[in-house]
Amino acid sequence: ASEGSAPAGATPMMAQYIEIKAANPDCLLFYRMGDFYELFFADAETASRALGIVLTKRGKHAGADIPMCGVPVERADDYLSRLIALGHRVAVCEQVEDPAEAKRRGPKSVVHRAVVRLVTPGTITEDRLLDPARANLLLAVGRRKLSDSAFAYGLAAIDISTGRFALSEVPGADLPGAIARHDPREIVLSEAILSDPALARLWQETRAAVVPLAQAELEPAAAERRIREQFGVSTLDGFGQFSRAEIAAAGAALLYIARTQIAARPPLSVPSREAGGATLSIDAATRANLELTRTLSGERAGSLLEAIDRTVTANGARLLAEHLSGPLTDLAAIARRHAAVARLVEDQGLRGEIREALARAPDLARALSRTGLGRAGPRDLAAIRDGLDVAVALRDRLAQAGDLPEDLARLGDHLGRADPELAATLRAALSDDLPLARRDGGFVRAGFHPEIDESRLLGQDSRKVVAALQARYAEATGCRTLRIKHNNVLGYYIEVPQSVGEACLKGLMQEFVHRQTMVDAMRFTSVELGGLETKISGASDQVLALESAVFEDLAARILAQAEAVAGIAEALAGLDVAGSHASLAVELDWRRPEVDESLSFAIAGGRHPVVEAALRRAGEPFIANDCDLSGEGRGRIRLITGPNMGGKSTFLRQNALIVVLAQMGAFVPAASARIGRVDRLFSRVGAADDLARGQSTFMVEMVETAAILNQATRRSLVILDEIGRGTATFDGLSIAWACLEHLHEANACRALFATHFHELTALGQRLPRLDNATLKVAEHRNQVIFLHEVVPGVAERSYGLQVARLAGLPAGVVARAGAILKGLEKAERERPGRPRIDDLPLFASLAPPPPPEPEPAADDGLARMLDAIEPDAMTPREALEALYRLKRER
Ligand code: ADP
Repeated sequence: ASEGSAPAGATPMMAQYIEIKAANPDCLLFYRMGDFYELFFADAETASRALGIVLTKRGKHAGADIPMCGVPVERADDYLSRLIALGHRVAVCEQVEDPAEAKRRGPKSVVHRAVVRLVTPGTITEDRLLDPARANLLLAVGRRKLSDSAFAYGLAAIDISTGRFALSEVPGADLPGAIARHDPREIVLSEAILSDPALARLWQETRAAVVPLAQAELEPAAAERRIREQFGVSTLDGFGQFSRAEIAAAGAALLYIARTQIAARPPLSVPSREAGGATLSIDAATRANLELTRTLSGERAGSLLEAIDRTVTANGARLLAEHLSGPLTDLAAIARRHAAVARLVEDQGLRGEIREALARAPDLARALSRTGLGRAGPRDLAAIRDGLDVAVALRDRLAQAGDLPEDLARLGDHLGRADPELAATLRAALSDDLPLARRDGGFVRAGFHPEIDESRLLGQDSRKVVAALQARYAEATGCRTLRIKHNNVLGYYIEVPQSVGEACLKGLMQEFVHRQTMVDAMRFTSVELGGLETKISGASDQVLALESAVFEDLAARILAQAEAVAGIAEALAGLDVAGSHASLAVELDWRRPEVDESLSFAIAGGRHPVVEAALRRAGEPFIANDCDLSGEGRGRIRLITGPNMGGKSTFLRQNALIVVLAQMGAFVPAASARIGRVDRLFSRVGAADDLARGQSTFMVEMVETAAILNQATRRSLVILDEIGRGTATFDGLSIAWACLEHLHEANACRALFATHFHELTALGQRLPRLDNATLKVAEHRNQVIFLHEVVPGVAERSYGLQVARLAGLPAGVVARAGAILKGLEKAERERPGRPRIDDLPLFASLAPPPPPEPEPAADDGLARMLDAIEPDAMTPREALEALYRLKRER
């Protein structure tokens, strides 16, 4: 069947469908037909496969059957969420006039329909489609040219489910890290940015859906106009200074929201602008390696976020994740957060009461947003009512608490900003038992609205009338099993079981109109019942209309105070986060860190929160370790050697995590911590195989290491684990060595460097700020016992064989390996062939590079072989083999 244009033979309905579908080619079209959304043609095939629902046909088009499937409107959310999760976009097409209206236009007229909304991953608002503990961000990217080859990128992050709107600008090099920080569900950008080869990998690898917008729609003037219109202002000056890249991003985001929300306009907060460098910069690889908000395999369980989350509200859980993704660099702001947590740690009573009250607070932010979009149900209004009640209780409690740290006082202040009238009206208007949907009615409390009460009485009266009628009919026909029932097809009808006697049946046939014979029952109607139908449904229509008007009025009252309500939602979230940190600190004995302007880094008794929690569950102790990188002299860089399984990675990571925790405003898993503010955190851990990226592991490792060496400042903290592991020994050793020198000389940052190249430990004598440390091991009858204690010095042995035995390598293999090792060590002693550290040139990176050799004239064969080589697609081994081949050729 051809789609796109309606051929002459199409039914009027099909013609309408085809026209609407043609305007939304990249979406599945949910076409409203009564109580169903129906999908046709290819959409039907896609949806039936994706949802596992029956594919049928409806009528013919261009001589062929039209494939069709449908989902009930009532359960559409379920199906939508599954389609969205699978990466589809859905256009929801509703009937936008009363069907009676269409009939009046003529017998063949179709009801007007229009797409009222596009459902996409980054623009959903329904609770059933959303993860309560996670923001649902739409991220728009704009840019401005800095030079011929460099851009600055503007980011607009909007969560329409809560109204949050944040703008920032980052240099090109930080774009991947910034995107990873926001972790958006959907990214919108210009076609130019999408097709920039330098960014191709970024768009390929993101988990978000990526949507390009045409350049013509993204003119700067249009972007500015959209922002002004959204906020009803005539100039943007009142919002502060935005860069051109930020305005472009904001304009693109608003354009996309207008395109997907059609008529509705979500209530967005005024865009907050984050100054450059306001947050600890963490690149995408470091974020992934440190498993901040999810593990390497993508789950929340096992992440730092899961280990520290003690929030009791969804709103708080989202803010906690946001803080964890963007730790601060501003000392005053960090200290304010710590002071709030400290107060709640000290004051157990206050902490307990706050958390108890918060636990009753519903998701105010999302309920408010749905109200603004006209998508709220009665329970959303109730959520706002209950949230306001909790806020007032908390404000009063905080007011009693006496002198409060600045952050808590400010939160308390925000909690009282809504007009108490609003909560009172909502309390008076809403019933105790609320239906899910507004169209179900019955949500207005009795006594709130006299006309509603009156119409309801009429409805109840009619029920009495029905009961009386049923008794009368039973009497008249002598059929005691006669019942009056109701359905949508017959309206009110009389039903008797098939088993009624002959006499009854005769009476029934005389009195009433026979309508249906079922397997076990017969149905009749009467004129009288028809009249009743009109009266009763009239009354209930009346009630529904009146309730609907009440609903609109309540929604309008809420929206009139949208800003105050949004501020309350934020304040509740802020209290929840502070309370979460405090509970955690009390529960696990975490301490308040000191973050200052120095370059010190002194952690005493530090622990790894996730490993410690896992060990605790297994009933095993975690060994706390100190880490001091403060020394201006020795010790800014620590080189750590030690056996596998000794605890090197754990130690490295725990120190990075302590920085993240301290700067996000939390207490830390350590006896004490003094940290000179960190501007950038880098970690390159292990050589995890990354087959999915189709890049050789070694290449990835080198790209990420290059980023660190190029970007780390004196203020940064760098963690390198097993650099150079992904290649041949000498290559790896030389690379690790040169990196270490560079970190020491050029970056001069605080760093932890774990390695299995024991040769590197000799560098400690040459590099003045480098110190060696190792993981302590005890040996007992040739068994190795890991003590997990970090001590100064150098690992004596690597214990590889012992670890192999622990891992369950067959005893014979371990014994044979032992024999081979002895032989190798003997040969080494007698004929030292491997270069030792003293034979190798030091500070190679500082010496001027040797002049390039003149290029030999390559013959044809060599040139062809060279052409065939794709270094990026090769494993290190293949590269080595290629080199040998080239050498042979020469
Ligand atoms: P490495 O990087 O040296 O191979 P890991 O850091 O991966 O070692 O640690 C290996 C295991 O040792 C961890 O999974 C953990 O169970 C245990 N471990 C590490 N550090 C500690 C510690 N400080 N206290 C107790 N157990 C630890």
